[in-house]
Formats: sequence, C-alpha cells, structure tokens
Amino acid sequence: MPYKDMKPSDIFKCRQCGDCCKGYGGTSVTEKDIEAIAGYTNTDPGSFVDNYCRISGKKPVLAQKEDVYCIFWDGLCTIHPVKPRMCREWPFIKSVLVDIDNWYIMAGLCPGMRIDIPDSVIKECVRKQLTKNL
Ligand code: SF4
Ligand code: SF4
Repeated sequence: MPYKDMKPSDIFKCRQCGDCCKGYGGTSVTEKDIEAIAGYTNTDPGSFVDNYCRISGKKPVLAQKEDVYCIFWDGLCTIHPVKPRMCREWPFIKSVLVDIDNWYIMAGLCPGMRIDIPDSVIKECVRKQLTKNL
C-alpha cells in the first residue's frame, strides 16, 4: 500500500497481549473516566477512587494487582466498553507529535505498533486519529 494511503489501522493493530496493561507508569483516569467506570461497575465515583485507584502526584491512577497488571486486567480488559481515555487513545497520543521517539519507545512495549514506516506517515496517522477522537 502506498504510504500516502495509510490509515491509523494500518500502522497499529492490538494483539491483546496485555503488556500495556501492566501499568508501570499508572493509568490515569479523568473525572469522566471515573464516572463512566463507576457506573459500569455499579459503584459511586468516590467509592470507585477509594477502592480501585491509587493516588499518584495528587491524581488518581488505576490500582495494580500484585503481578503489576491493572486491577481491571483479567486476560482481557474487563471494563473495555468504558476503559479510560488513555487506554482508548493508545498509541495515537499527542506526545508522538511532539517527539516521534515516543512512538518507538511505546513500540518497544507494544507488539501491535509498526515501526517499518516513515516518521511522517506515523505522525499523519496520529493526527488523523486525534482529530477523529475529538
Ligand atoms: S501492548 Fe499493544 S498489542 Fe498488547 S494489548 Fe497493549 S495495545 Fe494491544
Ligand atoms: S483499563 Fe483495561 S485497557 Fe486500560 S490498563 Fe486497565 S485492563 Fe488495560
């Protein structure tokens, strides 16, 4: 396929390996995420933060189990329909536009990301997906 025709789905396909759910840096959750996940798990936002999050730099991030996986990982994401924005956007995030090296760093962790294409094509796909997510 010519590079100019490439779409985000041509440069990333999730293989559902769960490696990005190990949460070394923590998966941050916005207020909107908290409301959505609390509703999905039949709890209220306050209890959700108390029971399923830890605080990192004054902000809530999803808690991890002893095996370092996200508390919602169980062979697959158990809150897939309402997973946090950060998880939904991966790997098409703004920081790739700021520094393309971020794509390659993330790809070191994620087997679904292609690294055999020009940086300009990766950036264009990230731009396209970010616009779609608005
Ligand atoms: S590391 Fe990549 S391929 Fe694996 S589950 Fe996460 S997004 Fe999917
Ligand atoms: S919320 Fe789901 S997709 Fe996000 S880190 Fe946890 S298990 Fe993975």
